[in-house]
Amino acid sequence: MSVPQYKRVVIKLSGEALAGDQGFGLVPNIVKSVAEQIKEVVDLGVEVALVVGGGNIWRGKIGSEMGMERANADYMGMLATVMNALALQDSLENLGVETRVQSSIVMTQVAEPYIRRKAVRHLEKKRVVIFAAGTGNPYFSTDTTAALRAAEINADVILMAKNNVDGVYSADPKTNADAVKYDNLTYLEVIQQGLQVMDSTASTLCMDNDIPLIVFSIMENGNIKRAVQGETIGTVVRRNS
Ligand code: UDP
Repeated sequence: MSVPQYKRVVIKLSGEALAGDQGFGLVPNIVKSVAEQIKEVVDLGVEVALVVGGGNIWRGKIGSEMGMERANADYMGMLATVMNALALQDSLENLGVETRVQSSIVMTQVAEPYIRRKAVRHLEKKRVVIFAAGTGNPYFSTDTTAALRAAEINADVILMAKNNVDGVYSADPKTNADAVKYDNLTYLEVIQQGLQVMDSTASTLCMDNDIPLIVFSIMENGNIKRAVQGETIGTVVRRNS
């Protein structure tokens, strides 16, 4: 099967996926391998938008646990996503993939500001658009950013590339041998059962806007391409079963 199933996708990459086993910062080889996997999809003619997290550098929660004001700590988290976005941009451009970083927090020396219509135009020109700085608002996550941007740009699907798990399980498979992996779920099941997929704000946004989600492991090379080609991998979450 080589025909892409989707015309326009949002790939959500957690910051940790760029940190490898060290769990912190950026590992150049891993960033490169992620970029190579993204290029495979671009080469199929699919329009790719990327939303990257920042958990490998900073999470707002850490700051608020230290006694920082939550909003400030969250702004630090958003800035962390900008660093990851620039690393991915660099890696993709080294592979000859045209990219644009659009930031939800204005920093014109570093990135374009987020302008929806401009983002869509870049996608139509087959440039990879990397959405940085989350939604630009504290108290949100980059999962919610992925849901929001997917709705705004009319993406066909969100591909949630995980580094620590290959789908959605009934319990944590690392600590519970009886954990069962789901092939298909509805957003309502995810929310009602409190399954660890994305935060509830992101889940409801996807549900309300009828955006399907595929959760899979990025640790297996070629998985982003498989997901785009409609191969059954990971767990698919939809509005209706
Ligand atoms: N963040 C935020 N608003 C957003 C997106 C992100 O405040 O719209 C902050 C928040 O503090 C979060 C951090 O940025 O902890 C990093 O994002 P996230 O935790 O989603 O990254 P990931 O877990 O995907 O690496």
